[in-house]
Amino acid sequence: MGKLSRRDFNATVAKGTGAAALMSISPLACAMGMHKDKKKLGVALVGLGSYSTYQLAPALLEAEHCYLAGIVTGTKDKEQIWANKYGISQENIYNYENFDNIAKNRAIDVVYVVLPNSMHADFSIRAARAGKHVICEKPMAMSIEECDAIIEACKENDVKLGMGYRLHSEPYTQEVKRLVREKTFGDINYISAEAGYRSMSNPDQWRLNKELSGGGALVNMGVYAIQSIIYGTGENPISVSAQEYSTRPDYFKDTDETITAQFEFKSGVVGNIMTSHNVRANRLFASCERGWYELDPASTYIPLAGRTSRGEMNFTQESQQKLQMDDFAKHILFDEPNKAPGEMGKRDMIIVKAIYESIAGGGKKVALNFEPSFGFGG
Ligand code: NAD
Repeated sequence: MGKLSRRDFNATVAKGTGAAALMSISPLACAMGMHKDKKKLGVALVGLGSYSTYQLAPALLEAEHCYLAGIVTGTKDKEQIWANKYGISQENIYNYENFDNIAKNRAIDVVYVVLPNSMHADFSIRAARAGKHVICEKPMAMSIEECDAIIEACKENDVKLGMGYRLHSEPYTQEVKRLVREKTFGDINYISAEAGYRSMSNPDQWRLNKELSGGGALVNMGVYAIQSIIYGTGENPISVSAQEYSTRPDYFKDTDETITAQFEFKSGVVGNIMTSHNVRANRLFASCERGWYELDPASTYIPLAGRTSRGEMNFTQESQQKLQMDDFAKHILFDEPNKAPGEMGKRDMIIVKAIYESIAGGGKKVALNFEPSFGFGG
């Protein structure tokens, strides 16, 4: 199906050539208000691996504003299993080849791309061209150019774009953002974040294959640490210097194992991250003029925990993925703020690139030139 730009669409409507007729054939139809009378948006998961199976699909059973309407899988055997388990009708089941036919399917409003990182851009762009709103998993893509292409495709096709950054909908993370916003403990002097796990079982997995992953610990877990130091300060960094450590080169043949990086912020905050596929770590800590706050764990699916220099935080725990997908559905349905827009994914990839550049330059300082609010969600 041919692509129609937003300008073309507006011109066609303005000419009075029949919006109704256009709506019946255009992939833009879905994005131009077809879902306005829907109470719940239909989500199609693309890629039925472990995150879709154990987190997203169960969360969609609980969600209030969206539900699992369709699947896109390259594994024939999964089709009937998922259809039976989630009551998915046959016309809402696609494979990677016939995926573009989803444009004609009015039951699907949102396409959620949960594939290996090298496939994010292709499927996000195809989803946008099919007139579907897009959620793209982290890391957003393999390059800044791919991030731009995803953002542009969503703009051109008037569809919304969200990142799979579940923590922005999560209460402990939101509390940290509130402490930052309200300067509860005064100016922040230091922030650190660690995100890692110990990978042992399968050296042949796609996450350790650069062609499919785009990088190692940094693009996988490091993105959480980068996110933490940004929402934990409310600022984009202005520079980074980084180091890479390799202690198990036989296992991590193709991708980075452990990376540390130091950040400067315009306000004077000093930041530090560690990310690893060899070290278990999951923490955010900020030291401020008049106290401190900490999340530990800071990014797991299991309940987060947090405390400040004044005492324990205590929030009700719900599925983070349910909260995230409901927030994105509310962004589409009720124009509520997009908590994790595409620009946030792009900003994090710019930082990832700068970290790799610093390492390649022997730890040299690499400048980061973001607008102050670039990449911040609502
Ligand atoms: P996974 O390996 O469990 O699943 C990957 C899926 O992609 C499988 O269904 C597999 O069949 C399919 N696939 C298609 N082409 C493939 C190929 N060439 N090689 C390997 N698999 C291929 O991975 P996952 O843990 O579900 O991760 C998928 C995406 O979700 C990744 O981008 C990951 O970073 C992201 N993720 C995000 C979170 C989060 O908390 N936001 C958590 C886990 C994973």
